[in-house]
Amino acid sequence: MEYVRNGYPKLVIDLNALKTNISQVTKRCEEKGIEVAGVIKGCNGLIPCAEQFYRAGCRWIASSRLEQLAPLKDAGIQSDLMLVRIPMLSEAEDVVRICEYSLNSEVAVLKELNKFAGMHDKTHNVIIMADCGDLREGFWDKEEMADVAFMVENELHNLHLAGVGVNVGCYGSVQPTPEKLQELVDIAETIEDRIGRELEIISGGATSSFMRVVDGNIPPRINMLRIGEGVLLAYDLPALYGYDLPYLSSNTFRLRAEVVEVKDKPSHPVGEIGFDAFGHRIEYVDRGIRRRAVLGIGKVDYGDPSELIPTIDGIEVLGASSDHTLLDIQDLIDAGGDMSVGDIVEFQVNYATMVYLTSSDNVTKVYI
Ligand SMILES: *Cc1c(COP(=O)(O)O)cnc(C)c1O
Repeated sequence: MEYVRNGYPKLVIDLNALKTNISQVTKRCEEKGIEVAGVIKGCNGLIPCAEQFYRAGCRWIASSRLEQLAPLKDAGIQSDLMLVRIPMLSEAEDVVRICEYSLNSEVAVLKELNKFAGMHDKTHNVIIMADCGDLREGFWDKEEMADVAFMVENELHNLHLAGVGVNVGCYGSVQPTPEKLQELVDIAETIEDRIGRELEIISGGATSSFMRVVDGNIPPRINMLRIGEGVLLAYDLPALYGYDLPYLSSNTFRLRAEVVEVKDKPSHPVGEIGFDAFGHRIEYVDRGIRRRAVLGIGKVDYGDPSELIPTIDGIEVLGASSDHTLLDIQDLIDAGGDMSVGDIVEFQVNYATMVYLTSSDNVTKVYI
């Protein structure tokens, strides 16, 4: 029997708010001579979202995943495409077929990219990554990095050494201080001395580096940032770092889920306590009888229930199993509120939740 999903749960995506966020950020970057690569992996590469990056004038559209970049040209998006996860050796041919740019840190991969670029009669642009302490991708040994850059420049003729880049604030939580970003500029200038020309691109990180643009203390030679979260959600810089960015909207993604049960129940489980549906031991607090609501959405759709942010007061997310989310709504009731079966509860989402929700086939995407 055919089943076309068009009901709840729904992820409501405000494309105008997204486009405005992108324009506001790119404008401020441009004033500092910085071009923005719009990173779409946070919303699973949803094409209507990717289109907003293109319309707002991003020179590159970027993702960690080729399957998100592959359909974009056919969708009419003409920005250059960039793979921001250093490529798997096994995907090198697809990288040169699909992307104009990639970030790299391994000689074996660079050689493979060069080989396939030649076979496809293309020149593929590479940005060599330095690890400045965040301990994810990139060269730790900067002499080795300069040697590899020299080799790309002089031996890998189907590659173009477009520049260098760094990533911070991902694994190691390292902050993009002006000094940290200057380290990258110094590396770039060492490489420029070796190859005898200027590099076009010095790519100084992701959303967190936008703080340096706002503060006006980004080293002048940084001329590319790769920005996703800061425009998709605009949540981290205000919520975690206390930045006041009134020109950005944090209402781009809203989750709406439907209430499937409302009952008064004990707050502590009744019976012998073992493990929950995911094999965890949970501590339950006994608060007596409370009004509870069950939503028709679960961990499969959004990952971690504790990351859901209700948009009205008086609702506490208690937990979830794969397909059910449990709310304590007693405070809402005590404050004179009401909730019945069939009602819709709305949540603001954070980055992790956005990643899961946009990837879930069980969640209807509604564009406004
Ligand atoms: C994900 C990613 C980005 C974008 O990060 P945001 O915090 O979403 O702006 C930039 N660069 C690389 C290498 C990434 O993997």
